[in-house]
Amino acid sequence: MDSKSTTPPRIYPSAPLEQPVSPNEQQQSLLPPAPPTYAQATGGAAPTTPSTSHVVVITPGAPVLYGPVPVDIQCPYCHNYTRTRLRFRPTSRTHLIALLLCLFQLYCCVCLPYCIGSCMNTAHYCGMCDRYLGTYVRD
Ligand SMILES: [Zn+2]
Repeated sequence: MDSKSTTPPRIYPSAPLEQPVSPNEQQQSLLPPAPPTYAQATGGAAPTTPSTSHVVVITPGAPVLYGPVPVDIQCPYCHNYTRTRLRFRPTSRTHLIALLLCLFQLYCCVCLPYCIGSCMNTAHYCGMCDRYLGTYVRD
């Protein structure tokens, strides 16, 4: 009896390491489908975002109403969109308040009306070219 059992060596079929990919699938993997746009997804037109910035455009000849605070304008001289620079100018009311303070012998407070902006007119200057644009006159 032959005790030697000869087992034949297992031969695995040589499988290809890379699966052949059809050119169509390769094209799809490289280019994924584009996501739908906002208008397509919602079925309507995209809403327009309201502009919150308040820009005053100065047209020649048109009066511009300046306020006590800096405003965003397009300078008529340098045509830049900028914020005005404020300078306070004393008025006759400022001098009157100072005179009244003198009459009441409050000499240490005489300079106060000249330091408080609300007691004076507000002149607006261009923030870029520093030219005079207009004055906010207090009533
Ligand atoms: Zn300017």
